[in-house]
Amino acid sequence: MLIPARMSEAEEQRWVTVMLDKLAAQESKRVLGDAELTERAERLSAQYFGGRARPASVRWVTNQNTRWGSCTPAEGSIRLSHRLQGMPEYVVDYVLCHELAHLLVPGHGPDFWRLLESYPRTERARGYLEGVVAADRLPHVPGARGE
Ligand SMILES: [Zn+2]
Repeated sequence: MLIPARMSEAEEQRWVTVMLDKLAAQESKRVLGDAELTERAERLSAQYFGGRARPASVRWVTNQNTRWGSCTPAEGSIRLSHRLQGMPEYVVDYVLCHELAHLLVPGHGPDFWRLLESYPRTERARGYLEGVVAADRLPHVPGARGE
């Protein structure tokens, strides 16, 4: 695996994690349909929020490039960026849990994060998504591929 130069050790570690996760994701690349996504969100709500978050609909959207997910609490609707497709399940589940938590608590205050602590892979998923953002910003370095 070729690692771009000039990365700090922490960045490098995150990058390796992202690459390994990408490899794992390729093995389970089937994309869930909207109905399956909604079911999945209902299951996650039952598992981590005692069923209190009630998602009415969950769907993929392609017009959302700066946010991974969003929701409209009044409608119970959740939208996920299509950029999550192909990422590991625990990352998609994290974004679902994040939006489910917003159906109960608006904003990102202490109450919100306390609620999300019940999803055990929150930290790892956030690290993964940060790694994706960092990797997107890596400049193309001519010759870095050993050309
Ligand atoms: Zn949020």
